[in-house]
Amino acid sequence: MIQKIYADNAATTKLDEEALEAMLPYLQMQYGNASQPYLFASAAREALNAARKTIADCINADPSEIFFTSGGSESDNWAVKGAYFSNRKNIVTSSIEHHAILNSVQYLEKFGCSAKYLPVNTLGVVLPQTLYNNLDDADGIVSIMYANNEIGTIEPIKELAEIAHKQGCLFHTDAVQAVGHVVIDVCDLGVDMLSASAHKFNGPKGIGFLYKKTGVEIDNYIHGGAQEHGYRAGTENIAAIVGMATALKNNMKNIHVNQATLKELDNYLMQELSVSGLQYIRNGNPDNRLPGNISLSFNGADGETLLHRLDLKGISVSTGAACDSVNTQISHVLSAISLDREYAEGTIRISLGKENTFDDVKYIVAALTNILKRH
Ligand SMILES: *Cc1c(COP(=O)(O)O)cnc(C)c1O
Repeated sequence: MIQKIYADNAATTKLDEEALEAMLPYLQMQYGNASQPYLFASAAREALNAARKTIADCINADPSEIFFTSGGSESDNWAVKGAYFSNRKNIVTSSIEHHAILNSVQYLEKFGCSAKYLPVNTLGVVLPQTLYNNLDDADGIVSIMYANNEIGTIEPIKELAEIAHKQGCLFHTDAVQAVGHVVIDVCDLGVDMLSASAHKFNGPKGIGFLYKKTGVEIDNYIHGGAQEHGYRAGTENIAAIVGMATALKNNMKNIHVNQATLKELDNYLMQELSVSGLQYIRNGNPDNRLPGNISLSFNGADGETLLHRLDLKGISVSTGAACDSVNTQISHVLSAISLDREYAEGTIRISLGKENTFDDVKYIVAALTNILKRH
């Protein structure tokens, strides 16, 4: 029998049962438009307000600072484009950001924005000193991700935000991999904007939010009606918003247990791997990274082939490289941490989640050993 093991939780996660339950009324009976003043729409309106409050409480924000979007990509696009079109100043980001940031910044370069892509060290850390050395008066916004999706490294956001502010810049963080997985307090972090996406924390797909601190002015990204305090147009997706709030609340309720369990699974995987006799490098920062985000590079292996062989054994993981039929392209993140090509090409990312068990981990390592020892 082929086992089904889902180990790609950094790509997306399974919808929380309670979140699904909470969504159902708004997909059917409670279909009122939250912007309408009559009584029938009040259930939608109240659900919207309650969800905004729940989410704000989870990250120590005020409800008026939470803006619903279609997901992480939109939040990222809005933050950097909104800031640029509002202040016309330059952008500083890192070389390991998600493409939602990198491609948005690249697009802004067409409008005369000048961008700096900061290097990282071999662990994937944006050093505060590097930011400090690279900032100047022409810069208007710094955008550095909270945790990297490919290698799990957590960035020193608080220090980075402080440096950005000293230079008079706004600070945005793409926290899509972190929200719902680590404790986030936007006041303590000192960030001006933060992006999140529900489907990365057991919420539904196609919904996310941007935290925008009171007083921070950026241009609108989606123009139209007056929804989201006039900052983001479009009839609200109440069901998805309610699902996102429920999923986040549930994840945060058990955050310390969830983190500890993931850490144990992570340790167990590494322990099994070390007795397997396989030669590998684990990428990322061992001192500060997302538990369960395991980027492994096998010298001389081919990540794409490895992914397909694991798939045949019922295991879903992802590669650290994007392939076309001819060339293996090393991901921008693995290039940025200066990983040798022979290792980078043989990279896979295992990302464990709430559903995974010790048996899953044992099976994954056994499958890896079987595939790599044969080869
Ligand atoms: C998944 C992801 C995104 C994109 O989020 P979507 O909701 O899928 O658009 C952005 N940034 C990071 C770091 C991600 O992991």
